Amino acid sequence: MLLYNREGLINNNIIFYKTGGGTDMAKRCAVCGKEPVAGNSVAHSKKTTRRWWKPNVHKVKSILDDGSVKRINVCTSCLKAGKVKRA
Ligand SMILES: [Zn+2]
Repeated sequence: MLLYNREGLINNNIIFYKTGGGTDMAKRCAVCGKEPVAGNSVAHSKKTTRRWWKPNVHKVKSILDDGSVKRINVCTSCLKAGKVKRA
């Protein structure tokens, strides 16, 4: 059973938007809320640079609980687990 609000999200998690960062809505899963996370890329010399890990998000047509069809952003692990009813 999936719950969507107006933004197509399942919960009310607070989203932090960093300017110039990777937390854009197009890279956020509408089912599980998976979104880009930041960290360090560590070279062999231990020199670190900032980097982002982005989820594998695809835009798919989905049948919502009220029967309407909408294009939502879903990560591939939710697609593989069958959490989205494809239209
Ligand atoms: Zn997901």
